[in-house]
Amino acid sequence: MKRGKKPKWQIKIAKERMKILYDLAKDEIKKGNLKRSQRYIELMRRIGLRYNVRIPRKIKRSFCKNCNALLIPGKTARVRLDSKRKIRIVKCLICQKIYRYPYTKRKEK
Ligand SMILES: [Zn+2]
Repeated sequence: MKRGKKPKWQIKIAKERMKILYDLAKDEIKKGNLKRSQRYIELMRRIGLRYNVRIPRKIKRSFCKNCNALLIPGKTARVRLDSKRKIRIVKCLICQKIYRYPYTKRKEK
């Protein structure tokens, strides 16, 4: 079967699984289980790739693409705003990767 030609019902299930995995990841990080949380994010991303399901931007920006840790300000991430350049700088405190996101377009919701 060609990539991206998965039947609709499979994609629907994939999306549901991704949502469950994301919720599990959030639960685990709250409990302090970083490793388990990273694993759930990894699985979520893998399902997304396999079924060609795009991860919503809001979710995509809430975890580190480098180490799969959920980015929680003050816990696993440091967030700074560069108001001059209208950039939000997010640093993952787990792997030290830095992300820069423009925030001119306020369509985060
Ligand atoms: Zn990271």
